[in-house]
Order: sequence, then C-alpha cells, then structure tokens
Amino acid sequence: MPAMDRSDIAPGPVRALFPAREIRTSVEDRLTRVLADAQARVAKGSVVPTLDIERFRAELAHFDFRSARPLEEMLDWTVAQLEHGLVHLTHPRYFGLFNPAPSFPSQCADRVAASFNPQLATWTTSPAAVEIEAHVIGAMTRRAGLPEGARGHFTSGGSEANFSALLCALTMADGRFADDGARAFGAPVVFYSSAESHLAWLKIAHQAGIGRSAVRLVATDGCGRMSAAALRQALQEDRARGRIPVMIVATAGTTNAGMIDPLAECAAIAEQAGVWYHVDAAWGGAVLASERCGTVLRGLERADSITVDAHKWFATTMGCGMFLIRNAAALDKTFQVSTTYMPSNRASLDPYVSTFQWSRRFLGLRLFLSLGAAGWPGYAAHVERAIDLTDQLKYELAARGWRIANDSVLAVLCVEPPEGCCEIATLVARVLASGRAWVGVANFEGRKVIRICVTHGEAGVADVHELVDVLEASKSPAP
Ligand SMILES: *Cc1c(COP(=O)(O)O)cnc(C)c1O
Repeated sequence: MPAMDRSDIAPGPVRALFPAREIRTSVEDRLTRVLADAQARVAKGSVVPTLDIERFRAELAHFDFRSARPLEEMLDWTVAQLEHGLVHLTHPRYFGLFNPAPSFPSQCADRVAASFNPQLATWTTSPAAVEIEAHVIGAMTRRAGLPEGARGHFTSGGSEANFSALLCALTMADGRFADDGARAFGAPVVFYSSAESHLAWLKIAHQAGIGRSAVRLVATDGCGRMSAAALRQALQEDRARGRIPVMIVATAGTTNAGMIDPLAECAAIAEQAGVWYHVDAAWGGAVLASERCGTVLRGLERADSITVDAHKWFATTMGCGMFLIRNAAALDKTFQVSTTYMPSNRASLDPYVSTFQWSRRFLGLRLFLSLGAAGWPGYAAHVERAIDLTDQLKYELAARGWRIANDSVLAVLCVEPPEGCCEIATLVARVLASGRAWVGVANFEGRKVIRICVTHGEAGVADVHELVDVLEASKSPAP
C-alpha cells in the first residue's frame, strides 16, 4: 500500500503537535541523551532542590502560550528545572517514602504505552493490552496464594485499590448499597484499620459516603502492629452500640515503620465476625518475590482482597497499583454498568464494568516488562538487598549509640539519636541542608523518630556509610 499523502496538514503550529517521523525521531533521540546526562548529574548532586524559586517563577510566567515555541527549547528548559527543582527519588541516597527510582523496563513501558495509547476500557478495543494486564494480575494472585478464579486489575495507585476494597466490602455486606448507598444499612457502618495504617482510609470513607467517622483506628501493640485484642474489643463495642462492621483492614508494611499486622489472626477475627478481610500490602507486597523473606506475609492468602502498589517496592513508574480479589463476582456486582455506546459490555472481560476507572491507561505493561526482564529471582534479589542494607544500617547506627525504635523485618528503620543530642527535626533539617541524603521525620508509637527507608534499587554499602556519616555529623551544627 502506498504511503498516504498528509500534505494537507500545513506546516506550522498544528504540525508541532503531530510532527513528521524524522523530526520525532531526532527529538526523541536527543531527549534520550539529555535525560541520561541529567540523571548522571542528579546521582552526583544534591538530593534536595537547589532551585532559585523566584527566578523559576519569573521564567514560568513568561510562558503565556500566545505563540508557539520550539519543542526542543521547551524540553531543555523543563529538564533543567526538574534537575534542580525536585527531591530526587532517583538519587541513591534518597532514603525516603515508598517512592523508588523507577525500573528501566517500566520507563520503556511508558514509552510504548504513550506511543500506541491503547484504551483499556474494553477488551474489544485493546485485546492484547487487556490480556497482558490480566496475565500479570494472575501471576500476582498466585504469588499471593489466592485460589484459582481470583482476579484483579491495575489501579492508579494504592488509594484507588483500597477504595475498591471498601466498595466491594459494602456491596457484598448488603446488595442494596449499590442503589441506596449508606442508608441501605439503616445504621452506621464501620470498618477497622490500625492507628498506624495509611490514613488515606479517612478520605476513602468520605468518598464512599459512609463518612470519616466510619473508620475505627484500632490501637497498636506498642510495636506498631494492630493489636488483635483491641480489634476484638472494638468489634464487640460497635456491635453492642448497633453499628455495622463491614471490613477489617490489616496493613502489611506500615508507612511509618514498615510493620506487618498479625495477618493470620486478623483473618480469623474477620472470618468469625463475617466481615470482609482486606490486606493493604501497598509497599510490603513486593516481599512476595522473595522465598527467603516472603513468609513474613503468612495469612495474606486468607484475604478477600489485597492492595499491592507496583510503583512502591516493585519500582515501576508512578502511579501503578493493583487490586487483587478472591471472589471475582464482587467486582462485577460493584462496578457493573450498562451502556449502549461502548463497544462491548461483558462482566469479567471489559475493565470498565469491573473496575472504578473508565478510560484506562496501559499501566500493567510496566510490571509485565519489569517482571519479564528480571523474573521473580530479580525482584527477590531487589527486596533482599534492601532488607540487608537496612540491617547493616541498623547495626552501624546501634554501634554508635543510636536507638532503634522499630523492629521491622522489611526495609524501614526508625531511629533516635543518642541521648543529649539535638531535636530530631533539627537533626533532619541539617541532613537535608547538606544535600547528601534524604530521610524523613515520623511519629511512631507516640514518639518522634527519624524514618529511613532503603528504596533505591542501586543504593549500596557506600551510600549506607555516607548516610551514617551525615547523620553523625548532623548531631551538631554545621561548622
Ligand atoms: C502508599 C500507600 C498507600 C496509598 O497508595 P497510593 O499509591 O499513594 O495511592 C496506602 N497504603 C499503604 C500501606 C501505602 O504504603
């Protein structure tokens, strides 16, 4: 077939949106090198922003969009601003929140998805993409120990996955919830997660229309894990007051301290109470990759549903979550809708009738390519390395008189400096001002702590030593 004539698209501004192939290729090739150079500088530079914010805002204000500008000029400007205007998650000494440097295969996936831009709302429009995602989800549900027939889907992140869990729990608790909302229950509904759980649960309860007071934050055991005794007591109290429990959430890898709630015990309590059991393993779920460490999630296989974020410890680009569910029928019941304008409408097949999203980006490709390129053994080595580095850091800080506040088997360390040192906030501010490393401040079991998470897949022993150095140096003011 001869190439079609596109000369009716005049050169000029419209062409800027859809340039000819040779131009695209040359811009992309150059961008590849510009980004690689920038990342090489990031790894050697400051973890924290060094941007002159006044100058930046003045330059930004100049983009008034009244006329067209060369794309390459825009790209160079943007890359330069990001190079200096971010806390760098891609810096090997970002010991930060659960935001790793993205795996290279997942970055490739973003390019591929952006190029084809498939619409995953229906199987009919994107059979290859929908089935690749379902294949990865199948691998995850098996890894998590869910039975044959379990299903799931990719989400924008952990929050959407957790929201899906609550909607499924409510819908399965009372089928009238779908049409009548919270009033279907005739009494206040409640669900349980620990005081150390991720507080997006409050927003999720708000969004679901059951209100923030429906979240019962159960006391922890003094070590950052949900207390099973407190959970039983809360259930009993709520029932006595006429409230309706609908879900128990256990967290596998808390945000503050990487702690794992007693998963099997929570499963037993949920079974006995007849309520939905959800495990929020947004970060910690990746430990399933490791034969050596994965057993810490025993009890996970009893969950009705599970959240795992691929963009956390699986290190894909953001945002990329997963919602895994034992009973697929709950998804179809919860997210069912029928239209005439969509190309198809089949439960269990078309994502828009079994998930919260409608238009859907091809997120799953990120984990497909990453898992494919590394295999489970690659991911096992990735999480084990982070855990080993955390252990080494723990050992070195303890040897210097630092107090270890948490007892995580994963890769989060909460520490307090030796007695008589400065305030934690002051110490952390000094670390950040040095630009040599990024660590956070957290509240753990009522105490302020320095929170350190090994998130970067290329962090090494030298980075741990430098962090120890900078923490020690930050005990007193910079000379
Ligand atoms: C990150 C996280 C969330 C929220 O997920 P997002 O992807 O940020 O929406 C929820 N729970 C836990 C345990 C998390 O680590």
